[in-house]
Amino acid sequence: MSRTQEILHAPHEQIEEIQLEGIKKTVIACYENVPFYKRSFDEAGFDPYALSSLEDLRRAPFVTKQDLRDNYPYKMFATPLSKVKEIHMSSGTTGVATVGGYTEHDLETWGECFARGIIYANGSEKDIVHVCYGYGLFTGGLGAHYGGLWMDSTVIPMSAGNTERQIRVLKEMGSTIICCTPSYAMHIADTAIEMGLDPARDFHLRAGIHGAEPFSDNFRRDLERKLNYHVLDVYGLTETMGPGVAIECWEQQGLHLAEDHFYAEIIDPNTGEVLPDGEWGELVLTSVDREASPVVRYRTRDITRIIPGTCPCGRTHRRIDRIHGRTDDMLIIRGVNVFPSQIEDVMKTFPQVSSWYQIEIDTDQRSLDLVTLKAEVNPDFDFDSVAAIERLQQEISARLKTALSVGVRVRLVEPKTIARSEGKAKRIVDLRRGIK
Ligand code: ADP
Ligand code: ZN
Repeated sequence: MSRTQEILHAPHEQIEEIQLEGIKKTVIACYENVPFYKRSFDEAGFDPYALSSLEDLRRAPFVTKQDLRDNYPYKMFATPLSKVKEIHMSSGTTGVATVGGYTEHDLETWGECFARGIIYANGSEKDIVHVCYGYGLFTGGLGAHYGGLWMDSTVIPMSAGNTERQIRVLKEMGSTIICCTPSYAMHIADTAIEMGLDPARDFHLRAGIHGAEPFSDNFRRDLERKLNYHVLDVYGLTETMGPGVAIECWEQQGLHLAEDHFYAEIIDPNTGEVLPDGEWGELVLTSVDREASPVVRYRTRDITRIIPGTCPCGRTHRRIDRIHGRTDDMLIIRGVNVFPSQIEDVMKTFPQVSSWYQIEIDTDQRSLDLVTLKAEVNPDFDFDSVAAIERLQQEISARLKTALSVGVRVRLVEPKTIARSEGKAKRIVDLRRGIK
């Protein structure tokens, strides 16, 4: 614990030393044990034995999700399987799953990284950590679980689902920190309200460590109001570990990267060129000390930026901004790039609509993309008044046009018509023929 506190406040030069020493070993381990890396380093003319600065890493080739898929299931492992204690797989949101292996050391690191979220929430062994990310191959459940254990907190391993039971436990067992996707937290809050409870008063939550999917600031404020707690955004991905790669501190001004375990670069997704701090681009991650499945310059496809300057909390680890979305989720509507979370941010400025929405993409007769925002109204909205519905639809559409310069049709739907999710919410429905 004190070592973690120390490292979170270490001078940045010291963190860079740790990164360089770790990455020197990682690139050699990859080269010597993973045929894929040997081939790709050789092809790119990258000599892992000659790496002498963090900038040198820029000469290493990127690794993509497709590379990991091509080497399914174990071919990216840098240690013998006998040393691998646990295996996880990505949820496959965008296609075939990828596999991550963890040695004992990797599991320890994972717990320690997620525990930083509990530290950022001013937590301790006194906290009751309610984990309702799904347990199993998905990294959410066990990642949060190991974080809770690492902190010596009391962990309630609920997993996702059985929402009424979650609510009973939250109320009766006095959980103080909840870990799940933001959309599932919203579903729990809404269900509790429907059951006649006031979760702001009846639950005992202080903080929620929510992630695994993008959510807007307005969504966050809505959650914080309903549950009377503080929401911290946690980022991670199976390919590099799971949740805990970066977590927001109490200041909510960006997510501190666990820089002693991950080296981050931001690149221009089109040219691969490394961008300066402050500029938005694709996050690329390199493992500093992962043993079983290290990655060297993994292209996450997640869009963010390094926030320049230091955080008011005083910790020295650099921060990434909240993830806008994935490059694959980015919609290009008549030439304008838009992420669903930006649409959500505009939509949430209307108090009449709830947090539940879906974006449908279809094509019109001229084969141009047609984007429809399907949004649920709140229960107190008069859904019988056709005029009121049409007026609101037009207003939302007009505001989207002004804010994002995109033409989006808006279709309001009745409460509870959009499917609820216990894990990641399905925000985009692609109806274009031939595209799944
Ligand atoms: P899959 O790629 O199959 O969904 P994972 O379960 O490993 O697999 O999910 C990792 C991805 O989830 C990340 O690459 C990112 O796109 C998304 N994600 C994770 N945490 C966050 C977050 N806090 N904000 C936005 N997106 C997130
Ligand atoms: Zn901070």
